[in-house]
Amino acid sequence: MDSESGTASKLHPGRSRTAAGPTRILLLGGTGEAVEIATVLAAVSDVVVISSMAGRVSQPRLPVGGVRVGGFGGVAGLTSYLVEEHIGVVIDATHPFASRMSRNAELACQDAGVPLIPMERPPWKPGERDRWLTVPDFEAASALVNNHASRVFLSIGRQELGAFSGCYKAWFLVRAIERPDELPPNSKLLLDRGPFHLEDELQMLRQESINLLVSKNSGGQATYPKIQAASELGIPVVMVDRPAKHTVPTVASPADVLLKLAELL
Ligand code: NAP
Repeated sequence: MDSESGTASKLHPGRSRTAAGPTRILLLGGTGEAVEIATVLAAVSDVVVISSMAGRVSQPRLPVGGVRVGGFGGVAGLTSYLVEEHIGVVIDATHPFASRMSRNAELACQDAGVPLIPMERPPWKPGERDRWLTVPDFEAASALVNNHASRVFLSIGRQELGAFSGCYKAWFLVRAIERPDELPPNSKLLLDRGPFHLEDELQMLRQESINLLVSKNSGGQATYPKIQAASELGIPVVMVDRPAKHTVPTVASPADVLLKLAELL
């Protein structure tokens, strides 16, 4: 990624860097992978990284380097941001369920003529011992839960809890990073943030006599131990499938993002 070569400027004239300065990269984040990418790029001399977070949690794990927080104002707002901030490359390392942000990034990058590197971590796949009930969305998950009088570990973050507000038959252990605006009717709240560990997850599932787990198919290592623990205890998992997120080819890891970036610069 040699800033002297001028390759990026030739690829995207007038857009990829300011007159004589380093390439400015907008890193759409909110994930561990985005933090990892920001850390590596902080040591690269010819790029400046601005990490962008949605602002969903009040005390996020901040990446190194420049950070901005909050929405851009849809596709038009993001397009203006890219132009005004002389962004040369956008890296989309958002959460697999943050589909609106990814769609906006695709459209805005097209409009502004800025190259995009979209990353999506691979989904989890069920193993032989796993008892998964895969559903397309949170409404389908709540309908399934409502048909069982269960003790449910609901581990889907805060935003989609409203889908379970009509589940009166079940009891919920809800885990979230911050206090949600609403909780299902019969529930206990557990405030905690990953990464989590298998032994702790096994203990919690046993202690609370959990017999059903509801999870997003987020992929990655940080929250996988709950899936492993459910598997070991023979607990079925209602697994909410990912929304369609990208219409262009993606890479799967921070290492692949850095390779793509090196090709571009
Ligand atoms: P979303 O539906 O894709 O995004 C909604 C809006 O939030 C976007 O249109 C954008 O607003 C803003 N936004 C999202 N990510 C942003 C970023 N990195 N920088 C600046 N603005 C951003 O995503 P979501 O509402 O945040 O979350 C949807 C699902 O993803 C939920 O299930 C959530 O639990 C999960 N998730 C999200 C994050 C995250 O950091 N976003 C992290 C973990 C899990 P404008 O249109 O105004 O630009």
